[in-house]
Amino acid sequence: MSKGFSRRQVVAVTGLGLTAGFLVKKAEGQVVWQIDSKSCVNSKLGEVGVKVCDLCVKECVVTQSAVRAVNEFSKCGRCCVCPAYFNVKSAVGKDGLPSEKLCPRDAILRKPIGEVDPNDPANNFYEYVIDEAKCDGCGKCVMACKEPAGLGSIVLRVRHDLCVNCNNCAISQACPKDAITQWPALKAVLGLSETA
Ligand code: SF4
Ligand code: SF4
Ligand code: SF4
Repeated sequence: MSKGFSRRQVVAVTGLGLTAGFLVKKAEGQVVWQIDSKSCVNSKLGEVGVKVCDLCVKECVVTQSAVRAVNEFSKCGRCCVCPAYFNVKSAVGKDGLPSEKLCPRDAILRKPIGEVDPNDPANNFYEYVIDEAKCDGCGKCVMACKEPAGLGSIVLRVRHDLCVNCNNCAISQACPKDAITQWPALKAVLGLSETA
């Protein structure tokens, strides 16, 4: 097999480079709204015993909101009983797990990583993926994921393919923590927007 690149591969790579270059160029000088998870009530560490803030879903001018929950897998403990997935206050079922889910929109998917030992499923890791088509950014799972039960891997983010980039973001006006501000779009395009 040839170790060189085919013409098709070279064209594809060049195309990707041009697309990335175009997006970066387009984003230069622009700003977008984004949430600072270190300030948001739902994800700010140390902010415990407070009610979940749902203003991101209530105030956004876009139907279903432009805000979504995002699980940063590098921080997730992949717990068997995830407090953001399960309603840990619900009755325990025959399988030894809480019988109810926490998300009101059933937007979190739980799947085992690798093979599960049927005799000891708690000794397995699980991946929790947010179905963004269902999520409306209500913040319940975000609050449940932080201490003392969780590791704070789920945060809220403005999705820029949904956001219409209002001059005065309605969420920003309503946010009790001034957690939503304008970010250079270039950071967002390069994946450098605030992550924790
Ligand atoms: S309005 Fe502010 S505090 Fe409330 S969920 Fe949105 S970013 Fe967090
Ligand atoms: S933010 Fe709300 S709707 Fe979205 S996954 Fe979390 S609990 Fe479900
Ligand atoms: S800028 Fe407008 S569309 Fe975007 S998050 Fe704020 S209110 Fe929603």
